[in-house]
Amino acid sequence: MAVVVGVIGGGQLARMMIPAAIELGIELKVLAETDGMSAALAVDRVGDYTDAATVLEFARDVDVVTFDHEHVPQDVLRLLVDAGVRVHPGPDALRFAQDKLLMRERLSELGLPVPDWARVETPDDLDDFIREHGGSAVVKTPRGGYDGKGVRVVRAAAEVAEWFATIAEDGRGGALLVEELVDFRRELAQLVARSPSGEIVPWPVVETVQVGGVCSEVIAPAPRSAGRLADVASSVAITIAEGLGVTGVLAVELFETTDNRILVNELAMRPHNSGHWSMDGSTTGQFEQHLRAVLDLPLGGTGSHEAWSVMVNVLGGPAEGTLADRYPEALAGHPTAKLHNYGKLPRPGRKVGHVTVIGADLDDVVYEARAAAAVFQD
Ligand code: ADP
Repeated sequence: MAVVVGVIGGGQLARMMIPAAIELGIELKVLAETDGMSAALAVDRVGDYTDAATVLEFARDVDVVTFDHEHVPQDVLRLLVDAGVRVHPGPDALRFAQDKLLMRERLSELGLPVPDWARVETPDDLDDFIREHGGSAVVKTPRGGYDGKGVRVVRAAAEVAEWFATIAEDGRGGALLVEELVDFRRELAQLVARSPSGEIVPWPVVETVQVGGVCSEVIAPAPRSAGRLADVASSVAITIAEGLGVTGVLAVELFETTDNRILVNELAMRPHNSGHWSMDGSTTGQFEQHLRAVLDLPLGGTGSHEAWSVMVNVLGGPAEGTLADRYPEALAGHPTAKLHNYGKLPRPGRKVGHVTVIGADLDDVVYEARAAAAVFQD
C-alpha cells in the first residue's frame, strides 16, 4: 500500500505538494476548509481544522500529518500526538511559528540576532518603547497575522488602540509584540529542510521583495550573497531548525540591515513563497523535500540548475476572466517561463499563481519573469 501523507489545509501549498507526491508514488490526502480550494484534486474531506473530532478522524487514515498553514490549534495538535499520530512539524515546534512573542523569546534565548523587541501589555509601555527607539516602532499582533496583516508601523500607541482593546476584552493576559523599526537594505529568506532523524539540507539564501507586506519577487540566490552572507544565513536557519526541533521545510525571513547585520524577522514551518523557485530551479524542490522530510526519507540535493532563478508572483490576476484566458498570449510570448496556476478565482491582491524563469544572466531572467507574470495581471 502506498504511503499516505495527510495535509491539513487546502491552499496552494497543499496543491503544489500534489505533483511531488505523484512523482514519489506517495498518496496525498487533504483536509480542506471548503469545497473548491486550490488543492481540490487531492481533497479527502472538507472540515474544520479547529475541530478535534474532524482532525482526528482525518488522521486515522494517514501515515503522517503535515500542514498547508500554521493555524491548527495547539490542543488539537496535542490530541493527535497523544493518539499516536506522526505530526510534522510537531506542536512543540509549531507553537513558535504560531506566536510571534514566543518566537522572539526563544530566538533571543538561542542567542540569535533579532531586532530589539519587547512584550507590551499597555499603551504606556508601548509609548516608552517608541520613545527609547527614536520615535517609531513596529507593532505586531502575536497570533493570526499573515502577509503584513497584524503588522503596523506606529509613532504612538494610540495608532493601535483597537489592538489593545481586543487584548483587554479577551481578558487572557494578552500582549502585543513591539520591535525596533529596522533600517534594512533588503529582505532575505533562508530555507532548510530537516527530517525527524536530524538530517538538514539548506537551499541557497534568496532575496525577497515585498510590496505592501506581500511577497512579489524572489531572486535565487540572493545577489551578492556568496561567502559570509550565505554562511551566516544558513547557520542561523540550521540553529533554529535544531533549536526548535522543526521537521519539514523551515523558512527563516531575514533582514539585511544597512550596517550589514543579519536579523531574523519571521519563521514559517512549511513550504514558503520564498522557496517556490526551487520547483523549477533546484535539483529538489521544496514540496518534494517537505514530503521526504516529514516521511523521514533521505533528503535531496539542492544544487541549482542555472546561475539564477527568479520567481514573480501573480497577484490579483486579470480583472475579468481567469488566468487560462491569457494562456495563448503568455505561453506563446514567454516560452522559457514556467507558470504555476493555483486554480483560484482572481481577486485584487490575491496570490493566484507564480512564474519562474531560470538562466545565466540575472537581468535577462528578471526581465523575462516580470514580463511573463505581467501578462496575467491588469
Ligand atoms: P507577516 O507575518 O504578516 O508576514 P512580518 O512580521 O513578516 O508579518 O512583517 C511583514 C513585513 O513588514 C516584513 O516583510 C517587513 O517588510 C516589514 N517588517 C516587519 N517587521 C519589521 C521591523 N521590525 N522593521 C522594519 N520592517 C518590518
